[in-house]
Amino acid sequence: MSRAFRLGPAEQGLGMTSQRARDRLIESLRSGRAANGRQVEPIRDARVLEAMRVLPRHLFIDEALASRAYEDTALPIGLGQTISQPWVVARMTEALIEHGLPRRVLEVGTGSGYQAALLAALVAEVYTVERIDELLRLARRRFRRLGIGNVRSRHDDGRTGWPEHAPFDAILVTAAADAVDAQLFTQLAPHGVLVAPVGPPDLQQLLRFRFDGQQWVGESLGLVTFVPLLAGVR
Ligand code: SAH
Repeated sequence: MSRAFRLGPAEQGLGMTSQRARDRLIESLRSGRAANGRQVEPIRDARVLEAMRVLPRHLFIDEALASRAYEDTALPIGLGQTISQPWVVARMTEALIEHGLPRRVLEVGTGSGYQAALLAALVAEVYTVERIDELLRLARRRFRRLGIGNVRSRHDDGRTGWPEHAPFDAILVTAAADAVDAQLFTQLAPHGVLVAPVGPPDLQQLLRFRFDGQQWVGESLGLVTFVPLLAGVR
């Protein structure tokens, strides 16, 4: 099923970052039982759940926050950015692979690298673009530490995609905008799927686009809140 990560004792974690903590998070995703007691849509895809059960999320955040890594919540990763909430990551990944496993995936917004690492366990090739150099360097270090060899990353404004490696079977945008840039659709294979949060800064619709033979049609997967998709690099 999922490709293995290189996990020594230091990567496995202890106590609040242990396998048991990961298992508990996976159980809550599977049952749709949110931390606040509310019910959310359960995550059903066994491939996604297994890959998340293995991937050490605590290595993608600052050590000072590691004890909160397996709470189902977004956490700050510095420079005003966040690592997405596990349920949202799971839901986006599930939506991306539901109609067939893509071979080549583009992610816009590497952030911590967690989403890219998860995709790397499921698909053959991951391409990820991040506009903040400092975050990208940290993410690359994490990929190396975990022995992840099938992620290629680039420092750029990801709104223009990565034309040299197009077409992609799937594109995942992990920052919010009012609309999806037309350039991304031109880099998507006709059978492809694009998932992105679309809407104003405080609340967006998570949309999944597929081609109906004439145009790209977006289907709503629910409400989410992402940090904004910004122009240029830093
Ligand atoms: N997928 C990330 C979470 C993303 S947070 C994870 O798993 O941790 C959104 C990220 O998108 C931030 O790191 C932000 O810097 C980046 N971003 C915002 N606008 C961007 C753009 N135009 N191109 C590339 N990255 C962008």
